Amino acid sequence: MNNMKKVVKFGGSSLSCAAQMKKVGDIIRKDDARRYVIPSAPGKRWSDDTKVTDLLYQCYDAAARGEDIEPLIGEIRARYQEIIDGLKLKLSLDDEFAVITDLFRRQAGRDYAASRGEYLNGIVLANYLGYRFVDAADVIFFDEKGNFDSQQTHQVLRERLKTIESAVIPGFYGAMPDGSIKTFSRGGSDITGSIVARAVRADVYENWTDVSGVLVTDPHLVPNPEVIETITYRELRELSYMGATVLHEDAIFPVRKEGIPINIRNTNRPDDAGTMIVESTCRQPKYVITGIAGKKGFCAINIEKDMMNSEIGFGRRVLGVFEDHGISFEHMPSGVDTLTVVVHQSEFMEKEQSVIAGLHRAVHPDTIELEGDLALIAIVGRGMKAKKGTSGLVFSALAHARVNIKMIDQGSSEMNIIIGVRNEDFEAAVKAIYDVFITAQLGR
Ligand code: ASP
Repeated sequence: MNNMKKVVKFGGSSLSCAAQMKKVGDIIRKDDARRYVIPSAPGKRWSDDTKVTDLLYQCYDAAARGEDIEPLIGEIRARYQEIIDGLKLKLSLDDEFAVITDLFRRQAGRDYAASRGEYLNGIVLANYLGYRFVDAADVIFFDEKGNFDSQQTHQVLRERLKTIESAVIPGFYGAMPDGSIKTFSRGGSDITGSIVARAVRADVYENWTDVSGVLVTDPHLVPNPEVIETITYRELRELSYMGATVLHEDAIFPVRKEGIPINIRNTNRPDDAGTMIVESTCRQPKYVITGIAGKKGFCAINIEKDMMNSEIGFGRRVLGVFEDHGISFEHMPSGVDTLTVVVHQSEFMEKEQSVIAGLHRAVHPDTIELEGDLALIAIVGRGMKAKKGTSGLVFSALAHARVNIKMIDQGSSEMNIIIGVRNEDFEAAVKAIYDVFITAQLGR
């Protein structure tokens, strides 16, 4: 037996029907280190299909309105039956569905309802693989306030899995102190996988999905972007914060604590190496930049005052006004006599006039100017530190694309450059940056 331990999490599209489940079975059987399996609920089989999780929410809401839930329960059942029949399993979910239908009618909770997607898929997958089924409600815990209880979970899970060679543990949910079911936020099976990987000290946490890894940028902005081979946790955090969606945001923390790498893989192309997400690496990145991500909908508040620079406490008083209004700021680039605060436009808009009045009272500026409809683009890469002229390349690429840069902010870690452009220039800007760093190097 292989001494390595791998925790493997499969997303909904990897488990959407019998044909996909077979691929998952093949992947797991190919490597006997793949001992702990975290399934999502069956996802979409085609683009306008409905995920089982969403069917469950609909069904529960219908029960709450006192409507007949049999048709929806039937639809959900059919999803599992297709998998059971397609895999030729001798398994009946009759008893499970009797309990579920009863508890839906008795209003056992929306989280309970949603969690049944993973729970049932876990039973089916465990049966198919011949692995033990471990109910997440027995090993994943939340505290009274509904926050994930990392310590208790780690202890219980660690002890429990010590004696179990191979197990299927459904993703997405756990139990409250009173035993009721609570889920993580949507996409939360990624978090369960990470928690299990930490508990068993896995060599790697494989996260199987329907893309061959983390892409350099959003494929809606650049067609067929390159896959990132290796990315650090920090780089990924920067990119996710700016809108890249690969993993659930909170899935990084448990494995990061233990220095366990995450490998993003594609169930439909299992031979692709995917992306490795690591704590740190001395591997030279393939390109100077690792990724580009961005978001629209920011507003810049430019505050100007002569001799601002010599006024001690100016910045604190400015930020205090935003704090008093409950607005968080994204960036704060400054000049000698100017300071700019960049915020989310949607958070700021309705409090705009009150913030301006507050700033006047707090720091007596000469002028305050607002500029809305800005997009922020983060150009992220650990490789930028060692390379000269990265920002130069960004600027000339944008000048070429006739995009006006409204703001620049380079973090002192030299790992990211943030630029602000007009919302309408966003797509063109991302494409220009991608082309200068990636396409040009590919020689396309
Ligand atoms: N099934 C849940 C969702 O659709 C959780 C997950 O897939 O990770 O959000």
